[in-house]
Amino acid sequence: MRVELQFFGAARHVTGSKHLLTVDGKRILLDCGLVQGPRAMANAANRELPFDAKSVDAVVLSHAHIDHSGSLPRMLRDGYRGAIHCTAPTRDLAEILLADSAHLQAQDLLYLKKKGRVDRDAEPPYDNEDVGATIRAMRCHSYGSRFDVVPGVRGEFFEAGHILGSAMVVLHISGREREIRIGFTGDHGRKGTPILRDPARLPPVDYLITESTYGDRLHESSEELEDALCRVVLDEIRDGGRLLVPAFSVGRTQNLLYTLGNLTAAGRIPRQRIWVDSPLSTKATKVIASHREQFDDETRAILDQGRDPFFFEGVRFVQDVQESMSLNGARDGIIISAAGMMEAGRILHHLKHSITRPEDCVLAVGFMAEGTLGRKLVEGFEHVPIFGERYRVRCKVRQIRGLSAHADWRELISALRPLAPTCKHAFVVHGEETPALKFCDRLRDVGFEQVTAPVQRQKFELV
Ligand SMILES: [Zn+2]
Repeated sequence: MRVELQFFGAARHVTGSKHLLTVDGKRILLDCGLVQGPRAMANAANRELPFDAKSVDAVVLSHAHIDHSGSLPRMLRDGYRGAIHCTAPTRDLAEILLADSAHLQAQDLLYLKKKGRVDRDAEPPYDNEDVGATIRAMRCHSYGSRFDVVPGVRGEFFEAGHILGSAMVVLHISGREREIRIGFTGDHGRKGTPILRDPARLPPVDYLITESTYGDRLHESSEELEDALCRVVLDEIRDGGRLLVPAFSVGRTQNLLYTLGNLTAAGRIPRQRIWVDSPLSTKATKVIASHREQFDDETRAILDQGRDPFFFEGVRFVQDVQESMSLNGARDGIIISAAGMMEAGRILHHLKHSITRPEDCVLAVGFMAEGTLGRKLVEGFEHVPIFGERYRVRCKVRQIRGLSAHADWRELISALRPLAPTCKHAFVVHGEETPALKFCDRLRDVGFEQVTAPVQRQKFELV
């Protein structure tokens, strides 16, 4: 038997996850993510796949985030005709996220054509038809039930606790003498995340592919989201302004609704008008609400009491642009809108109206990357640009820290440590160079014998 593993993305990087496993000539792709980052680099990287799509026999998808799923439609466009194995919530979330991604890429191309930076006949990497074909190729499996991937290889999903439907994967390869097991963490979540179940423990494996997003960092002691949010909302009611919360469509938006619902039900805050102003967030909330079988015990208990964690009195999901614009007149209440780092989207229109009002408040609840408008606000810039105009920041800016969908290094080590005795080789991916290399050391510290942070295209013979 011959087993090889080659890394085509998220190698000393956090986006574009693509790990190709070859078992006796059969090729299994773990994730097929879009490269995200500076436009020129991302465009070039996403226009062509780094391998022949037709040569792949099966795809196993860990979760719906675009940096893990966003190049799948390109596979279909290039002639891939095999199955894509995932969980049911991953399929449903991928359907809306991939459609959104196709739309964004078409828009981007139009812009680049207008600027004369690409050929006039250039095509986007994929369109809606390719997205449709991708969704039809998906085969859904529950956690803990084994499924056939290629002859001699069975797959099994384990709860990853990162977003709804997120999975860690174990591939069971039937060998001549014994089974060989390869584990893949996908993106590993944290215990105690609202709505989601805690990450499961992986069974013993012979080889491990692990993420390392926070391989060199510890999360700040996470403030209790409920207490922190309660304080911010009560202060805002006292100040007589409105609260703007930039939030990612999948995950953070639902966490906020869930927490605001709990605070209201417990009488800790008076009933507020809450607008979710993002078509994608609205769709994502509906998908997540339709998978209540995936919720943790606390969220199920709320449902059992007859209370809806997302669609409760006072919450309004804004769809059309007209209604979104009418929110300009809203002087109190809470507006949850995308994009999460305030780089684009409807949140910018709301910010334009709030930025000069000292009674209003922007609440940052997510990671703000270097250079983004969100980062400038939390760093206390006196002036910021919005749609090319310079504004003096007069509103309040507050932050709730320690909320993350990824485990930090200590949490990840405590989850993976039990695998050290059987693991022959651990591969560290999905981390920038420094965290990835640092996390290699941490794995060695707890007894992993052979540890590598592969570089792009690096290939390993496992068996
Ligand atoms: Zn993810």
